[in-house]
Amino acid sequence: MVGAAGLELATLCSQSRYSSQLSYAPNADILAKNTRSAREGYTLSMRCTVLVNSRSPGIHNGLSYETGDLTVEPGMLVRISVRKKEMEGIVLSTDNGPLDEEGFTLKPIDEIISKEPVLSTAQLKTLQWMADYYYCSLRSAMTPFLPSPPWRTLIPKNIPGYRFIKEPEKLTPKQQVVIDTLRREGWMSVSDVKKETDVSAAIIKRLKELGSIEEESHSPDAVEIKPYVFAGTPPTLTPLQQSAYEEMKKEKRPSLLFGITGSGKTEVYSQMISDAAKAGKQSILLVPEILLTEHIIHRFETLFNRDRIAVLHSRLTPASRRSEWMRIRSGEAALVIGSRSALFAPCHKLGLIIMDEEHEWTYKNEQTPRYHARETAEKLCEFAGAKLVMGTATPSLEAWSRVKSGRYHMTELPERYKNQSLPTVKVVDLATVNFGSLYPFSPTLLAAIGDRLKKGEQTVLFLNRRGMASAILCLKCRKRLVSPESQLPFTLHRSSYGQPFLLDHFSGVTANLPADCPHCGAHDLLPVGAGTQKVEDILAAQFPQARILRADSDVLQYPEQMRTLLKKMRDREADILFGTQSVVKGLDLPGVTLAVVMIADIGLSLPHFRAGERVFQLLTQLTGRSGRAQQGEVIVQTFRPEAVEVVAASQHRTRDYLETELTLREQLHYPPSTEMIRFILREERAEQNAKKLHAAILRFIHEEDMKAQASVAPTLFGGGKVWHVLLRGKDLRTILPSLDLSDAVVDIDPIDCI
Ligand code: ADP
Repeated sequence: MVGAAGLELATLCSQSRYSSQLSYAPNADILAKNTRSAREGYTLSMRCTVLVNSRSPGIHNGLSYETGDLTVEPGMLVRISVRKKEMEGIVLSTDNGPLDEEGFTLKPIDEIISKEPVLSTAQLKTLQWMADYYYCSLRSAMTPFLPSPPWRTLIPKNIPGYRFIKEPEKLTPKQQVVIDTLRREGWMSVSDVKKETDVSAAIIKRLKELGSIEEESHSPDAVEIKPYVFAGTPPTLTPLQQSAYEEMKKEKRPSLLFGITGSGKTEVYSQMISDAAKAGKQSILLVPEILLTEHIIHRFETLFNRDRIAVLHSRLTPASRRSEWMRIRSGEAALVIGSRSALFAPCHKLGLIIMDEEHEWTYKNEQTPRYHARETAEKLCEFAGAKLVMGTATPSLEAWSRVKSGRYHMTELPERYKNQSLPTVKVVDLATVNFGSLYPFSPTLLAAIGDRLKKGEQTVLFLNRRGMASAILCLKCRKRLVSPESQLPFTLHRSSYGQPFLLDHFSGVTANLPADCPHCGAHDLLPVGAGTQKVEDILAAQFPQARILRADSDVLQYPEQMRTLLKKMRDREADILFGTQSVVKGLDLPGVTLAVVMIADIGLSLPHFRAGERVFQLLTQLTGRSGRAQQGEVIVQTFRPEAVEVVAASQHRTRDYLETELTLREQLHYPPSTEMIRFILREERAEQNAKKLHAAILRFIHEEDMKAQASVAPTLFGGGKVWHVLLRGKDLRTILPSLDLSDAVVDIDPIDCI
C-alpha cells in the first residue's frame, strides 16, 4: 500500500480493500448545511472518494479529497493532483468524514470537468457491488464502464451560441431577422442561427458590438433530447406472446422467458423495447456472441431507425467505441445491442435489459473483473429501477433453480410461431457407420444433404472443431504431436496459401508440420479427427454444385463478415452454412430445413460438471435452427446415442432434463445447489502456492466446521504451469478475508473449472 505521505496530501480511501461502504448522495444533514452555506455565500467542504485510472496498486480503491468550494456529486469527472501529477478521476462518493487523515489535510479537488455525472448512481452502486461480490478492486470493477482515458474527451464540448440582450435603436432588415429570431428563442446555437437567418458573420459581429446579443455556450447536457422516432410498428403478438408480454410487464422481479426455439421471443423483446422507448427509456439487448450482433441489428432495424441503435462490443475500434458511448450517453441511442460488455453502456435512462440466450457461457467474463452478465444485470436493474428479461429455450440450471426459489419470475412460450412443429430428430450412432475416407459424413447425412439440395432447401452443419485434423498420430509409437506450451495435441491447419501447419488452440502456439515423428523418428504420421477445413473439402468434393459458406473464427474476424454470410443465406444465394459456435446460436433462417451436429460427443467427455448441460443446450439450440418456416429435420451424429443429454434433446424434453440434472447437482453438492470459488495460480511457483493455499483453506474449513470441499490440481489446458484450487460449499465468502491471495486470481461462480 502506498502511504498517505507518499501521495502527499491526497490520502487513500479509508475503506477496506474489498468492502467499501460508499454513499451516493450527501446525507440530508450535509445537504441542509450546504444549502444554508450556499445562501450565506460559501459552500461547506466535504470529503469525497475519487477513482483514477492509474495502474498503481496502492490506489485501486480510490483516494480521498476534499471538495473545497466546489459542489461535487458522485459520478462526476474531476481533475485532481496525485503525486504532483494532474489526473482525471471519477467521484465515487461524498461523505461528511474528517477532512484530514493520518495527520494530513486532504487535498482539494482541482476542477470539475463534467457537471453531469459520467456514471449514474445505479452504475456506481453496481460497480461497488461488483467489487464486493467478485472480490476485486473498485478500479477493476470500474474498467468495463468506461472507454480508455482520457475521459474528458467523452464529455461533449459545449455548444457555442448567442443570447438576446436588447433591441438596438436602429436596425437593418437583416439585423432585424436575427434579433427577432433570438428574441423568440432566447438562446440559439451558432449553427442554428446561421441556418435560420442566413446572415453573414459581419452582421452578427455588429450586433455583438451594439450589445444587442451576446455569446453564450450551453452544455449539451442541457439541450433537450429528441423524442424517439420509430421506423416501424412492433409486430402484432400472438395470444401466447401477448400474455407472456403482459405478465412480464406487470412483474417487478427479473423474468425468465422460457420459450422454445422459434416461439417468437425476439418479437416479445421488440414489444418491450418499443414500450420502453415510448416512455423515454433506453434498453440494452445482450447477445452471447459478437457475431450475432449483426443478425439481431438486422431484425431491429425494422423497428427503430438505425441511428437510434448503438452497438457495443469488444471488437470495436477505440474511436467507434467512444463515439457509440457518447451517442448512448446523450440519449440519442434508444437501444444498445451488444455482447456482455454492452451491459455497462452509459444509459442514464435505463428502462430495460434483455439478455438473449441467457444460458450461454460467454456471458461470463474470464478476465478481472470476472463478472457474470446475468447477476450483474440483475443488480444494475435493481439499482436503476429497470426490468430484466432473460430469454432462452434452454434455461441455465442457475436460472431454473432461481425460478423454483421464487427469485425469478418465469413465463413460457411453449409453441412455435404459427404452430410450426418442432423438427424430427434422427440420431446416428457413429460407432456403427462405415465412413471410408469421408469421416465424419455418414451415408445418412450425405443423403439428407443431397435431398435438401435437390429440393432447393438449406442446410446448417455444426462441428465444434476448427482446422483440418484434430490431432497428428504416429502409427509406429502411437503418440500424438503435442504442443510444448500446453502439452495438448496440436491441431492440423491449412493456411490461406494451402500450407499445412500445427496450431495449439489453447495457447496460440504454432509449429511446422514435421515429416517424421519427433518421439520415435518414424516416417508414419497420420492426421486423425476432422475439423471445419476438412469438412469444407469433403462437402466441396461430394456436392460440387452446392454453394457453401464456412463460418468459424479462422474466416470470420468481424461481425460484418457474418452479416454478409447471413444475407446470402436469407437471399438463397447459398445452400449450406457450416461452422463452429456461431451457426448454432439464435439464427433465424427460414430456408433451413436440415440442421446437423456432426459429432455431438465433443465436450461430453470433458471432466466438467457442466459438460452434459452444455451439450444439451447445444443440441437443443441446433434443433432450433431447422424448420422455422416449414417442416424440418435434425441429424445428431454421436458415439453415445444413449447419453441422457442426447436422448432428452432429441425428444425436446427440456423440463425433464433440467429437473433430472438439478436433482443430480443437489445430490452431488454442485452449483447451483452450492456456491463455488476458484483460485487460479499462474506464477513460477504456481504448484507450491496452490498447495499452500489449499492447505490454508482446508485448515479454515476444519476449524470453522464449514460445509465445504476443496481440491487442488493443475488445470487441464495449462500445460502444468497453471494450477487451481476449487472450493465448493455453502456460505463460502466468509473464508476469503482470512486467506493470503496475493498470488491468486479469485473467480467467484466460475464457469470454467477444469
Ligand atoms: P425465437 O427468438 O423464440 O427463436 P423468433 O423471434 O426468431 O423466435 O421467431 C421465429 C420466427 O417467427 C421469426 O421469423 C419471427 O419473425 C416469426 N414470428 C414470431 N412471432 C411473430 C409475430 N407475432 N408476428 C410475425 N412474425 C412472428
